[in-house]
Amino acid sequence: MWYRWTCGGCDHAVWSRNLSPGVTEMQSHLWMHHRRKRSDGTPPYRWECPYCGATGVEYVQTDGNALKNHLTEHVPSVFDTVSTSDLVHPGGRLLLYTGGGGTAATVMRKHVFFDADSLLLVTATPDKQLELLSEIPFPPVRTAVLTTASPPYEYADATGGQVDVIQLEGGIGLTELARESSDVIEDYGDRGGTFHIEFDIAGAIIERFGLESAFKFISALNAWIHRAEAGIYYPVSSSKQPKSVLNALDGLFDRSIRAREKRLVSSFN
Ligand SMILES: [Zn+2]
Ligand SMILES: [Zn+2]
Repeated sequence: MWYRWTCGGCDHAVWSRNLSPGVTEMQSHLWMHHRRKRSDGTPPYRWECPYCGATGVEYVQTDGNALKNHLTEHVPSVFDTVSTSDLVHPGGRLLLYTGGGGTAATVMRKHVFFDADSLLLVTATPDKQLELLSEIPFPPVRTAVLTTASPPYEYADATGGQVDVIQLEGGIGLTELARESSDVIEDYGDRGGTFHIEFDIAGAIIERFGLESAFKFISALNAWIHRAEAGIYYPVSSSKQPKSVLNALDGLFDRSIRAREKRLVSSFN
């Protein structure tokens, strides 16, 4: 389960496995809203609680400690507990920005793997994903890996579930990649149960084939996964992909989140 807090004043949300990183995020986010009300940057500072309307005054410059302390009283009522499917759900399409510390991204991936009956990993680094998979107590019944990486695949036999690694040629085009992907998606979609996909090469496709081709490819992929009732997430590194490029793809995803250390936050903030 995850702790989830949503702002209410804007679309900002945070998910964390432990309560404390989520509470820190809530406190600093609400303080960000509140500090705009400051008069001219000198004390006294007035604060008003967005939940209960309580007000207070601080006579010395702080980082909003009085409001932050007050907010902890509301923590039990403003945090929801949700399952991993709140992040990656059947038919859902998530853009996952990694690279901001990212422990939370690894934790999310492991939980998605744990939830899956069928799993498709499209990746240039199969060892990394399969190592994560090997750490899951109950791995998916079936896993397919599409990759251009050459064998041996170090953890393929260590996962405890059935793993089919399909090696693609290094110079593979988008048409062929589409065919290979849709074959697995159709097959796994027909088998029922929970089906998840990690598509780890969106950034590489943009770099190699350009934005327009990547847009078309991801649109097609999203249509197939919708039919198969699979949940898909696209890890991308915001340090490698310019924001303008990712903004252009924005409409292809239900939600984008940014992985930070120990928490996931809605990406715009
Ligand atoms: Zn907000
Ligand atoms: Zn209050």
